[in-house]
Amino acid sequence: MKPQNDLLSATGTTIFTVMSALAVQHGAINLGQGFPDYDGPEDVIEAAAAALKDGRNQYPPLTGVPELRGAVAAHNRRFYGIEADPNAEVIVTSGATEAITACLMAVLNPGDECVLIEPLYDTYLPVVRMLGAVPRLVRLSPPKWELPRAELAAAFGPKTKAILFNTPMNPTGKVFTAAELAFIAELIARHDCYAICDEVYEHLTFDGWKHIPLMTLPGMRERCMRIGSAGKTFSLTGWKVGYITCDRSLTPNVAKAHQNLTFTTPPNLQRGVAVGLAKDDAYFEGLSTSLQARRDRMARGLAELGFGVLPTQGSYFITTDFRPLGFKGDDVAFCRLLTEEAKVTAIPVTAFYASADAPNHYARFAFCKGEAVIDAALERLRNWVASRGGRQLTAVAG
Ligand code: PMP
Ligand code: GLN
Repeated sequence: MKPQNDLLSATGTTIFTVMSALAVQHGAINLGQGFPDYDGPEDVIEAAAAALKDGRNQYPPLTGVPELRGAVAAHNRRFYGIEADPNAEVIVTSGATEAITACLMAVLNPGDECVLIEPLYDTYLPVVRMLGAVPRLVRLSPPKWELPRAELAAAFGPKTKAILFNTPMNPTGKVFTAAELAFIAELIARHDCYAICDEVYEHLTFDGWKHIPLMTLPGMRERCMRIGSAGKTFSLTGWKVGYITCDRSLTPNVAKAHQNLTFTTPPNLQRGVAVGLAKDDAYFEGLSTSLQARRDRMARGLAELGFGVLPTQGSYFITTDFRPLGFKGDDVAFCRLLTEEAKVTAIPVTAFYASADAPNHYARFAFCKGEAVIDAALERLRNWVASRGGRQLTAVAG
């Protein structure tokens, strides 16, 4: 038989699926794949349930139901002062995953360069490559994950069409600063590029850190495609409802990409999300406050066990350096062993890098879990560290 598509044949199954399957196999507490173990707001779920029963179950409009497009526009104004026409500048997609692909499809031609920042979310690189575009990778380095400005500037050139970047950032928990965003904006303007802004964790920031959409910076309104996700904002990751806000000049291509990918997104879920985006400020504040408490609980526990815990300013994730525990192997071996022996699952951070020279001593833990689950996971880790104390783990400790 003739070979199938080379790029997909060469792409592995996503690390999130691999580690979740391993967690099930070993009865491990799954702190790998980032999903809350609690449900989203009841009124949002009730609204979607009611919407299933009121006779609007056929294809919704291509760009999304009017209720949700209106709610996305209102949310943009309320939180960021972004004015967007709900009828011409908002597109609803089946999750941010689809939104990212649709935005890349909208602007990239084969041969165009697209700047990406490592560590990166797992769908970015395969999609850029599938489109025949050329990725230009710029790496942030732990533990500070600072933007390497000279390297970023050097990655832009005459062939650069777009930059795709993520703030608050998975897996680093980094929230880009106003100064970093201004630097990126200047490069985008200078090189006449577009920006695909993955802002799915926009409401999940801590310690007073505020998310700033790149779109709000001078000159960026027409160049940015800003992506949000109901999965993250309402703790309903299985719903897969995403939304793009972009200039009306970009909408036709983004909408045509969406039309070729999924065409529409379930109308009932869209109507539930519309109710969610209109929720009062207390909801959005409560979301980040409660997550911050979970982060603190997890970070404290991991630090007590000896992990090197990196700071997290936003997202669902804590990145940890496991070398202080004395483990000798790489992150893939560590996460596998942790699942098999400690019965706790984490994600090896090398999964977020394109090449083998990535730092390989970090594991990512998701803390979007109930307190009892966080405590149970920490207890398992504590027992595991103690049980291995006389063996490999202390071998290189200190
Ligand atoms: N971008 C990032 C950085 C993510 O962590 C995720 C995780 N789900 C997504 C995009 C995808 O979002 P969705 O589930 O809405 O497709
Ligand atoms: N965004 C989630 C994470 O980083 C996973 C989403 C998925 O499984 N595709 O854990």
